[in-house]
Amino acid sequence: MAAETGVPVYVIGGYVRDLFLKRGSKDIDFVTVGDGILLAEKVASSFQGHHPVSVFRNFGTAMFHLDDLQLEFVGARRESYHPDSRKPDVSSGTLEDDQKRRDFTINALAISLNRDSYGELLDPFEGIEDLEKGIIRTPLDPDITFSDDPLRMMRAVRFAAQLGFTIHPETSRAISRNSGRIKIISGERISEELNKIILSEKPSVGFKLLDKAGLLEIIFPQFVALKGAATVDGKGHKDNFYHTLEVLDRIAPNTGNLWLRWAAVLHDIGKPPTRRFLPDQGWTFHGHEVKGARMVPQIFRQLRLPLNEKMKYVQKLVSLHLRPIGLTEEEVTDSAVRRLLFDAGDDIDDLMTLCEADITSKNKEKVQRFLANFAMVREKLREIEEKDRLRNWQPPVSGEVIMEAFGLNPGKEVGVIKTAIREAILDGKLENDFGKAYSFMLDEGKKMGLIPLKKEDS
Ligand code: ATP
Ligand code: MG
Repeated sequence: MAAETGVPVYVIGGYVRDLFLKRGSKDIDFVTVGDGILLAEKVASSFQGHHPVSVFRNFGTAMFHLDDLQLEFVGARRESYHPDSRKPDVSSGTLEDDQKRRDFTINALAISLNRDSYGELLDPFEGIEDLEKGIIRTPLDPDITFSDDPLRMMRAVRFAAQLGFTIHPETSRAISRNSGRIKIISGERISEELNKIILSEKPSVGFKLLDKAGLLEIIFPQFVALKGAATVDGKGHKDNFYHTLEVLDRIAPNTGNLWLRWAAVLHDIGKPPTRRFLPDQGWTFHGHEVKGARMVPQIFRQLRLPLNEKMKYVQKLVSLHLRPIGLTEEEVTDSAVRRLLFDAGDDIDDLMTLCEADITSKNKEKVQRFLANFAMVREKLREIEEKDRLRNWQPPVSGEVIMEAFGLNPGKEVGVIKTAIREAILDGKLENDFGKAYSFMLDEGKKMGLIPLKKEDS
């Protein structure tokens, strides 16, 4: 298509990098020294079937999907930034102009798709050498690259974490110098990179880099507040910053669920504001799970993470993360196990995965002992669930039935009776059966001075 139109075209950026790294990738970027939108339309129509092209005229880009591939086209351009504006001046340029506006040398590689030079690698900034050495480095003066688009600082850390690369010392120093400029970047773009760090194989690497660069303090101060281990009267407590990172690394091999990993990030986030030193107990963090769960919405809002059921799931895991520990004792009652099953519902397995990752003692024997205890808890959970089916359980008598029985309107009394029924069943004092629960309901109502509409024997 390019030859037909008489314009040069190259494949560029992440796809080329990942080709050399033998990582699969699903998005391919093409750059043409010409009109990217026109080329996209020509290429899309050359395939069988209908491939609708999305055009982003403001950016001069266009893309379409081909099976599970995303093909993106852009006209080569040069960008110049001005200190007083976040938006660059954009004009068309050469391939090399386009390579210069890219964030890192390893992301500026291009391969020719033109007939006379098909397959030729164009690597003006020694990107291949950096790929081989595992180095993240900007093609131009890093102070300019980062000041032009501060998100690139997050991207540097993200690539270092994802690929196991090192950030070149000059690039790294420039990040520290420019970290304050991350403030001008939107929460959405920041959390997109943060999520990729959290999903990397060893997320602590990325968090430590963000911290060292001074970025973490700006984008996620609540996390930095976990740092430190104060000592009073010779009594210290563990440093919850490093503890949390260890938990995150420990959970990574067991789940690719971003939100479960977020629960690991946030499980102790309520510790700094609840920390107290009590002379008779030492350091305490009473209620940190409740406080932590309450902090989740504010953190999600600040990072523009979704304020939906994903957030509720994270809150739930944070608030329940101490409960399984309570079930590790030998003589734990069925009712305690039932209660946890009821409260955690379908998320019980994820909760156990979180708790197992939360064991970070240096003492290997202790870790083994705790893990064995949790295996026992899992077994108890399985037994009780098999017997009582409480995961997605609803008490046998609903609010409507209660209202009908006493001629009530929705209100506090209905809730009180409903809770009493549920608690009695969870405690094992009442059978999980409609008839039994119905008479229990009548008794509870009468205790509250309510009169049933129908005669009991009717
Ligand atoms: P991945 O797809 O794994 O997130 P990627 O490098 O392909 O990694 P994309 O966001 O898909 O990242 O961007 C494609 C290419 O566009 C990059 O390889 C890089 O050349 C360029 N690029 C993306 N974002 C920026 C940016 N903020 N500054 C400069 N160049 C960028
Ligand atoms: Mg990409």
